[in-house]
Amino acid sequence: MSKRDEPLTMPLVGPAKVSGAPVDPRAADEPARASAWLIRLEAGAPERTVRSLVERLRGQGLEAACHDIGGGLVAVGRAEREQLRQGLEATALAGRLIAVETPYRLVRRDAAPEGSIVRIGARAFGRGFSLIGGPCAVESRLQIQAAARAAAGAGIHVLRGGAFKPRTSPYAFQGLGLRGLELLAEAGRASGLPVVSEILDPGHLERMYPLVDAFQVGARNMQNFELLKALGDVDRPVVLKRGPSATLEEWLLAAEYLLAGGNGQVLLCERGIRSFNTNTRYTLDLATAVQAKALTHLPVIVDPSHATGLPELVPPLAAAALAAGLDGVMFEFHPQPEAALSDGPQALRVEALDAMVERLRRVEAALAEAGLREAGLPDTPR
Ligand code: PEP
Ligand code: MN
Repeated sequence: MSKRDEPLTMPLVGPAKVSGAPVDPRAADEPARASAWLIRLEAGAPERTVRSLVERLRGQGLEAACHDIGGGLVAVGRAEREQLRQGLEATALAGRLIAVETPYRLVRRDAAPEGSIVRIGARAFGRGFSLIGGPCAVESRLQIQAAARAAAGAGIHVLRGGAFKPRTSPYAFQGLGLRGLELLAEAGRASGLPVVSEILDPGHLERMYPLVDAFQVGARNMQNFELLKALGDVDRPVVLKRGPSATLEEWLLAAEYLLAGGNGQVLLCERGIRSFNTNTRYTLDLATAVQAKALTHLPVIVDPSHATGLPELVPPLAAAALAAGLDGVMFEFHPQPEAALSDGPQALRVEALDAMVERLRRVEAALAEAGLREAGLPDTPR
């Protein structure tokens, strides 16, 4: 093998041998007790039998619940492995026991190792690379209809548009509220695109529900626990943005609220964190996005528009996210950025969309050619 053909990664080194007592290789992987457990059931486990397992475990004073994640999962609190093994045996269920010592449980990758699919309309996030695009805010029928046409024409999968805007200044445009959502839904129908919009208040949930295909939880609300609890109880996907000062663990625990509440349709979105940089609006933390993807089964996307505040950085960072194995991007564009009522300076022009999608398609094709990921972007309709 020539130097050029050598793999870049170091060979994996096996566990160090300890002299003296023989090492039981199962001991570290299979502790006798843990502060929490997941039981990953084999496919096809009958629901009634799973319920009887949960009842049995609860009867023993354990905290237990079943979840519809990765084909069926029972989450258990502090317990002995033997109690769980006996429970499985008594109910004739087959499943894998996973000892959990991380504060988050249900979002862990080993809960669904093949990765979750999150559907927004017809688009399956988690397979291929997906695009969410649109203006920061819905401003008028004309504006959102023009944006929707441009999005559909460029092959974007989901149309975004804020109607309830979390603005730093109380004097800034706050969004059109419900009227904005109606206009967004109408533009989505007209263009055949599903729509996503931010929810600020759990009290808006019922009125928003019929108008959006996915709810967005904004960066400032990542730890609005009442909002997370309310969204845990709905059968609509949630795009969960990372707070600008949130650690990876805090972000994953926010997602855990949604899954623990019963909503497994969660898409994580890294949108930039606070740093000492003044050259970009925030700092796109691609490293943490890649870690989030490795640690969880949830699809992970990035938002280079809010992360950088600079439209020219959106296409290259979208390409970086694609090459890094992430699941998509959310970005802002506007039919007339100079006239936008919010975030105009960071919005791409409609004329830039085709070139960006084409660039991503080529990067994706090159990656697929190299055996690094499957193709997922549609050919751009012309
Ligand atoms: C947005 O996407 O419109 C938005 C306000 O983003 P963030 O919550 O990431 O600031
Ligand atoms: Mn914005």
